[in-house]
Amino acid sequence: MSTSRSPGPDEQYCSSCGEVIKQAAEICPECGVRLRDPPGRAASDKKLIAALLALVFGVFGIHKFYLGQRAQGGLYLLFFWTLIPALLALIDAARYLLMDDETFEERYLSG
Ligand SMILES: [Zn+2]
Repeated sequence: MSTSRSPGPDEQYCSSCGEVIKQAAEICPECGVRLRDPPGRAASDKKLIAALLALVFGVFGIHKFYLGQRAQGGLYLLFFWTLIPALLALIDAARYLLMDDETFEERYLSG
């Protein structure tokens, strides 16, 4: 016989042990399994790193390589002596910082 009750509006089933737990819970109090990462945390960190790389090494396109945009990074590297990539990198850095975490994640981290 099951003693579990059905989850209320702010509750959910634990994906590991099936116990009813709080929707906001990040770690199941029953089995101790981590249910999900805090939202946007990874994206937020990556965004800051990418912006920092763009500001410091942007002329070489390092931030593009960091985000997996190797073709664009290659172009920056090829034309770094024109200093145009330095300008573009400044714009990139500003765009990353102004972009919200979810958009950044969608655009650069997924797929
Ligand atoms: Zn659990």
